[in-house]
Parts: sequence; C-alpha cells; structure tokens
Amino acid sequence: MGANLGDAVAAVRSALARLAVLPQSTLVKASSLYRTAPHEAQGPDFINAVAQLETQLQAHDLLAQLQAIEAEAGRERPYPNAPRTLDLDLLLYGADTIRTARLAVPHPRMNERAFVLVPLAEIAPALVPADRLQAVAHQRIEPLPPA
Ligand code: AMP
Repeated sequence: MGANLGDAVAAVRSALARLAVLPQSTLVKASSLYRTAPHEAQGPDFINAVAQLETQLQAHDLLAQLQAIEAEAGRERPYPNAPRTLDLDLLLYGADTIRTARLAVPHPRMNERAFVLVPLAEIAPALVPADRLQAVAHQRIEPLPPA
C-alpha cells in the first residue's frame, strides 16, 4: 500500500485497520511504515507498507475489497480528479500466478521497486532474494519510527 497526499501516514494506518477487518480474512503481519522517494510518480515522498493476509476470499474478490478501501479513501480527495490518496496493490496470492484483464499476480512490477521489496523482506524474507534487494538498493527508502 502507498499514499503520498495529505496525511499519508494516517492513510496507510487506516488502510491497515481496514485490512484487519476484511471479511473471511485475518491480518497476519504488517511491515513497518516506510518513507520512500516517488518512483515513476510525482509529488511528495510516499508512505508505503506491506501486509500479509490469510483469506478465504478468491483473488478477484480480494482485489474488489482492496479497491473498495481505495475508493473510500478517495472520498477524501481535496478537489475533483485529484490523485488518489491511497493505492492498494495485490502483490502475491500464495504461490498462484494469475493473469486476467483485471488482475496480474505476482504483481508485474514488484521486483523493480524498493518500496515493495524492502517492506516485504521485513515480514517475509524468504520471498525476497538478496540479489533482488541489491538491484533496487539505489532507491531511497527509510523506515519510520514505530508509532
Ligand atoms: P493502479 O491505478 O496502478 O492502482 O492500477 C489499478 C488497476 O490495475 C485496476 O484496474 C486493477 O484491475 C489492475 N490490477 C492488475 N493487477 C493488479 C494487482 N496485482 N493489484 C492491484 N491492481 C491490479
């Protein structure tokens, strides 16, 4: 998840709170929050985090739930068509490979992004080989102190 508008820390914390109450799902782990440089994006630094869920939801239903949380955060847009205040991506769904019009899992660009790999390595180190982390080591990312 990521946010870079308004109170981005609050947006990510509230997204985590929403993930914790998703139907048929349990929030297993959440990473620290990280401050990261915009990557293929404009504007202020982003706040990013990753979370691990255990869920009975099918992947597309989970995506729909994530999009509903995004839409809810989007209601806080300061002006029409403002960029979204919150972006939620599905990185992995177990070991599944999914390629449909609506959903690509594993997320096709996750391995290029320090803001994904560093928090993911914090909660699931076995999923992030050292050479992948090394390849994005030039991207600026720093953990925020715990709240
Ligand atoms: P974005 O605006 O970059 O967040 O992209 C949102 C669009 O990407 C939606 O239309 C989704 O259907 C699609 N999408 C494809 N794969 C994924 C994924 N793994 N996680 C989130 N959105 C995805």
